[in-house]
Parts: sequence; structure tokens; C-alpha cells
Amino acid sequence: MSARIIDGKAFAADLRERVASHVPAFRERTGRSPGLAVVLVGEDPASAVYVRNKGKMTRAAGMESIEHRLDAKVEQDELNALVDRLNADPTVDGILVQLPLPPHLDADEVILRIDPDKDVDGFHPVNAGRLASGLPAMVPCTPLGCLMLLEDELGDLSGKDAVVIGRSNIVGKPMAALLTAKSCTVTVAHSRTRNLPHYLKHADIVVAAVGRPQFVHGEWLKPGATVIDVGINRTEDGLVGDVDFDSAASMAGAITPVPGGVGPMTIAVLLRNTLVAAHRREGVPLDE
Ligand code: NDP
Repeated sequence: MSARIIDGKAFAADLRERVASHVPAFRERTGRSPGLAVVLVGEDPASAVYVRNKGKMTRAAGMESIEHRLDAKVEQDELNALVDRLNADPTVDGILVQLPLPPHLDADEVILRIDPDKDVDGFHPVNAGRLASGLPAMVPCTPLGCLMLLEDELGDLSGKDAVVIGRSNIVGKPMAALLTAKSCTVTVAHSRTRNLPHYLKHADIVVAAVGRPQFVHGEWLKPGATVIDVGINRTEDGLVGDVDFDSAASMAGAITPVPGGVGPMTIAVLLRNTLVAAHRREGVPLDE
């Protein structure tokens, strides 16, 4: 193995500390802490763990965590009404509705209802449009976390060849938009891509967001590439990424592990997005 291991856990801890360090000045200016409202519908165990961790880390950063737990059978109208109340609440800067929702609820309808300025997940089409247009946007947490790790590892990304595997609204598409904005030459691969190894052979940067365990093989990579593995797959052998770590680590220049790579970045960026939303809403400048 020759690749450097990118320590997302340490980077995320540092980011959470930096976020926390801005809270006292915000409180001084506004008389309140930034507030993040998280809505959990039903009892999905993985979602419950995520929501608990989000609450814990929000409070640890000195911010206000507002948690709403709704019954799995809640009607769409009731969920919409809660979002309306959170939109109107001046102490709420960020609104996050934990996905997936039970099948009788329409997630798109809920996302469209969230005030784009409070949309700390960055899933509202207005934010996707702002990101694509180069306007100030709320950017989805996972791809923004990947970008932070890449810039920390590589510095200026301008002119690099990047392949993003996956085109979801949550990861792949915003990742491609972020890398394009940083002047990378971006290829977006997906399930219909023919000959993925051909594209990977030329890629300085690979972001894998496929949802298939150990899908990307080391021999497909350009020697020295920087590999960001977004995948979280639960298998009999435990948690594995979308990249075959051992073969990739012998070819790549740097690689994120799973766990301990991209995963911890997501909540840290959520806190950062909440801090940014709070400052924008109050018109308080933020020197990140
Ligand atoms: P989606 O299932 O929404 O998207 C997967 C993408 O991979 C699709 O665009 C799909 O293509 C593409 N794909 C599927 N098979 C292939 C293939 N054989 N070759 C090339 N592309 C393929 O997943 P998400 O984007 O939501 O998540 C991706 C992974 O990231 C998952 O493992 C998920 O658990 C993880 N994740 C981790 C997060 C974190 O905090 N670290 C946060 C979010 C996700 P097509 O569009 O053609 O179907």
C-alpha cells in the first residue's frame, strides 16, 4: 500500500471546532445561537441514530438543536404544516427533514416547501439552481465535505481531470457542479456509462458515489489519483465503501477510508451550513 490515507474524522473534528468558535460572536450580535431543526418521521433505526448524532453535535458546537419526532403514520398535510411553522420561526436557521420518509409521504413535496435560505441540506431545486449558476447557495453536505477534503489534499484543483461516479441529486450532481466551479474537467459516470475504466485511467480525482460495495478496482485508476469514497455499504464483512480499498490504495496517491473518511464530514458540514445560514439570515458577516 502506498496511498496516503485522508483522515476525514480528524478534518471533521477540526471543522466542528471552527464552527463552534464562531458561535459566541454570533450570539453577542444577535442575542441567540444558530438553530437547527431536525424532523424525524417514524422509527427507522438508522435515521434515529443519525438524528441523535446530529442533535448531540449541534449542541456540542454551542448551537440550538430543535428536534421534532412525528409518528410514522403522520399525514402529508401535518408534515407540511410543521415545515411551514419552522419556516416562519425566526429562531430556526436550518431545517432538515431526515430521509427516507415512509412511503406514503412525498419527500419532493416536503423539500419544495422548505425555505431555500433554511435548506441546510441543499436539496431544494432553488439551491441546486443557485449552485449550478454560481450564486451563493446552500450546498449539499456530503459533496461539499468531499470538496473540502480534496482541496485540503491537493490545494488548487484547477485543470484537474475528475470523474464522479454517480449522478444522484444528493451526491453526484452537486459534486460535479462543485468540481466544475473549481475549474476541473469533469466526467459524470452512471449506470449507463460504457467502459468506466477508460475514463478512470485519465482521472486525477475520482469521487465514487455508486452504492455498490467495493465496485471501483485499483487497476482502473491512474497511478497517483486522489480517491474519495462516498459509499457506505453494510456487508457481512462490516462497513465497506464503493471502492475496493486494498487494490485502490496500492494505485492511488491518496484515498479516504470507510469508515473514517467522508462519513464524518457530512454532519460537520451540516453544522457549517447552519452557521452560514444563520449569518446570512441575520445579515452578520462571517469570516470562515
Ligand atoms: P443513488 O443510489 O441515489 O445513486 C447511485 C448512482 O450510482 C446513480 O447515479 C447510478 O446511476 C450510479 N450507478 C449505479 N450502478 C452503477 C454502475 N454499475 N456504474 C456506474 N454508475 C452506477 O445513491 P447516492 O448518491 O444517494 O449514494 C451513493 C453512495 O453514497 C451510497 O453508498 C450511499 O450510502 C452513500 N452516501 C454516503 C453519505 C455519507 O455521509 N458519507 C451520504 C449520502 C450517500 P443511474 O443514475 O444511472 O441509476
